[in-house]
Amino acid sequence: RALTREFVLRRSWVPGSGQTLRAVDRVDLAVHKGETLGLVGESGSGKSTLGRCLTRLIETTDGAVVFDGQDVTRLGTRGLRPFRRSVQMIFQDPSSSLNPRRRVGDILSEPLAIHSIHPAREIPGRLRELMDLVGLPAAALDRFPHEFSGGQRQRIGIARALAMEPRLIVADEPVSALDVSVQAQVVNLFADLRERLSLTYLFIAHDLGVVRQVSTRVAIMYLGSVMETGGTDTIFDAPAHPYTEALLSAIPVPVADPAARRRRIILKGEIPNAANPPKGCKFVTRCPYAQDLCRAERPALRPLADGRLVACHFPPS
Ligand code: SF4
Ligand code: MG
Repeated sequence: RALTREFVLRRSWVPGSGQTLRAVDRVDLAVHKGETLGLVGESGSGKSTLGRCLTRLIETTDGAVVFDGQDVTRLGTRGLRPFRRSVQMIFQDPSSSLNPRRRVGDILSEPLAIHSIHPAREIPGRLRELMDLVGLPAAALDRFPHEFSGGQRQRIGIARALAMEPRLIVADEPVSALDVSVQAQVVNLFADLRERLSLTYLFIAHDLGVVRQVSTRVAIMYLGSVMETGGTDTIFDAPAHPYTEALLSAIPVPVADPAARRRRIILKGEIPNAANPPKGCKFVTRCPYAQDLCRAERPALRPLADGRLVACHFPPS
């Protein structure tokens, strides 16, 4: 077991035909052991693609995905097996990954058998343990996915991921489809499991409230690029990138909150076509602070004094 466990992705993704779309454009991002990195952005920002690239659900065009010091994009089926087990993905709609004709117990024991994680005689006990971890009764094992509510189904999806004893979980909008009251419970479950099982998460979401609650660090994506990344409180209390500012401006804040005194930016216009992004800064068409330099040159991610990284020519000083 390596002392450092970083997950580094440097990737641009080009689907086969016609136009070149960089859904993820030279992103260099590390997920550190034990943290929850919240990946935020509007739909079309490339956050799901990034998640799928780094779990190797889709191939990358260029760059490396480094896990435990190994570039997993270079591994074949056999070499990938430990990675496939250590890195699990949870989706917005758990129903799509839960076979409707099979009982929950069978759904969960299948990966256990394939990866021979436990001897057969230990599997029933392990299944009950998994149910307990996600807050469902053992009786749930004998039922079918459709007999559960959306929140319960997501708990089953989480149990299925946990069955593999993963170290990294990539969760793509895992609570977006749930009622607000249920969302909070599932978010709490994620936090609780991280503590109990020493998990690391990449948590993809567009809901900033959820991201703030769950993340230790955040990365803000726009048109395939990371615009700002740093500690959750650092960024939510005082966003430095105009795009982050705009996203946060859209959340109502209590008047007593000092953060309410920040500049307010209203996002105008649509997110540009990712296949034809603006020259220079990708946010230039919507940024109220844009200047000539922004149209001419794409800003690199650079550190500010507080340690966060910002891709803007004119961050607040
Ligand atoms: Fe706005 Fe210019 Fe900064 Fe881009 S580089 S976010 S256009 S100020
Ligand atoms: Mg998505």
